Amino acid sequence: MTDTLIPAIDEARAEAERLDLRTRLFIDGDFRDAASGRRFTTENPATGRPITEVAEGGPADVDAAVTAARRAADDGRWSRLSPGDRKQILIRWADLIEANARELGLIETIDAGKPIADTVGLDMPETAACIRWHAEAADKIYGQVAPSPEGTVATITREPVGVVGAVIPWNYPAQMAAWKLGPALATGNTVVIKPASTTSLSLLRIAELGADAGIPGGVLNVVTGPGDTVGEAIGRHPDIDAVAFTGSTEVGRRFLHYSAETNLKRVLLELGGKSPQVVFPDVTDFETIASNVAIAIFWNMGENCSAGSRLVVHRSVKARLLEAVAAELEAWRVGDPLDPATRIGALISRGQMEKVLGYIDLGRSEGARVVTGGSRILEESGGWFVPPTIFDNVRNDMRIAREEIFGPVLSVIEFETEAEAVAIANDTPYGLAASLYTRDLNVAHRVARDLRAGVVGVNAYSEGDMTTPFGGYKLSGFGGHDKSLHAHDQYTELKTIWIQLAER
Ligand code: NAP
Ligand code: MG
Repeated sequence: MTDTLIPAIDEARAEAERLDLRTRLFIDGDFRDAASGRRFTTENPATGRPITEVAEGGPADVDAAVTAARRAADDGRWSRLSPGDRKQILIRWADLIEANARELGLIETIDAGKPIADTVGLDMPETAACIRWHAEAADKIYGQVAPSPEGTVATITREPVGVVGAVIPWNYPAQMAAWKLGPALATGNTVVIKPASTTSLSLLRIAELGADAGIPGGVLNVVTGPGDTVGEAIGRHPDIDAVAFTGSTEVGRRFLHYSAETNLKRVLLELGGKSPQVVFPDVTDFETIASNVAIAIFWNMGENCSAGSRLVVHRSVKARLLEAVAAELEAWRVGDPLDPATRIGALISRGQMEKVLGYIDLGRSEGARVVTGGSRILEESGGWFVPPTIFDNVRNDMRIAREEIFGPVLSVIEFETEAEAVAIANDTPYGLAASLYTRDLNVAHRVARDLRAGVVGVNAYSEGDMTTPFGGYKLSGFGGHDKSLHAHDQYTELKTIWIQLAER
């Protein structure tokens, strides 16, 4: 049974009022208060009003969660289940997430400001699909037998690393959790995960559904609370074997310090981006490209690490393309995230809105020209709304073209030659994603190879799908990839067993 039907606005509002929210830490298979008894407020970004209070975990709670996760890792209640049984439990979990997509999507919408059409229609089905995909791989991965000399047998196998820590962001709270939990749990690890403080609610309910599906106590633990206490305690914990992080480059760097200064736990970082969308002069289908360009930068309010925030476009087609983007944006309604017609909801917080507006002011003062958007709207709602904003006449050395804004702000930069396009596209400290548009097969192949980014979309804005890895070059990533079977490698240790056979 699935429940991915997007509710009408009245239903959505009524159901949002009636939600029975989980707000306590999930440790060792049960909900509990923080050791300190403290709680913090989570707000609805579309109204600026509080939703509820969530347990404010601290280092003592991380300790309790790691103790539970270590015990579960050591006694083999999960790692030594047959892979087929582990698979069945995780698939049941995916089914439950899908069956409860409407409730989970409502939770995500009120907590994160994301449009209901996205949370119910996309985030939750994708979360379920991610867990299912990794689950299905659990009993299909083989080890190797090495070509060792006669009289010996050498096997190369993968074992779970043990206890995995995960610290995740607020932009796709459920999906980013699934990108870590799917492969980490499918490969037999136990996990301690911290959601972003602004978006703790969906993951607590998802963890409960995991227990309903049969994930044993201690295998999946959720500690809510601030990054600089709970996040740091996870990063430094001596009994966590690997830590996976998605968020800002600045905080990502800290995890390398945490690890270096403690137990050298493996560190996997998915960080920021300033991804180029390169449009060559031979293109003809402006409507389709405009739709892709808009999705690339305005989907999820631009709060997307792979957002295509720089439109690098050939001088001869710029005017035509910007016209098509303007026409496309007429369909992008900004407003109440509970309204199924809304495509752009609220930014995550007042702080994030102020950061975005600050960059818009900066762009103006750097000499770029606002062609659409450019200021806060819907202030009477109490929420944090910024409409799609496009800057023309941007030079790639301006700060709005170099720094990750993480909001609905597009910088338009012109080029003349292919070499110049590639140079501009690659002139960034980041390297997460890129896309290019051309009808010329030669240009497509040449430029796709030249672009220094982990994912390159050709005639598409795409991060690929579950079958393809996602990870960044340069300041965009470190140590591994999310999605695909490559994600399994990083949550496993490679073991060699060398056996000497006795002579006959
Ligand atoms: P962030 O600070 O990197 O937060 C990501 C996660 O790290 C959250 O769970 C956060 O917890 C935690 N954290 C914060 N400080 C920490 C610390 N000292 N040690 C350990 N963990 C810590 O990102 P943000 O503040 O939410 O957003 C800031 C900027 O990061 C954005 O404007 C954007 O540029 C970028 N960002 C990128 C992505 C991405 O997917 N690449 C996602 C989100 C944000 P709290 O929530 O409790 O702070
Ligand atoms: Mg919130």
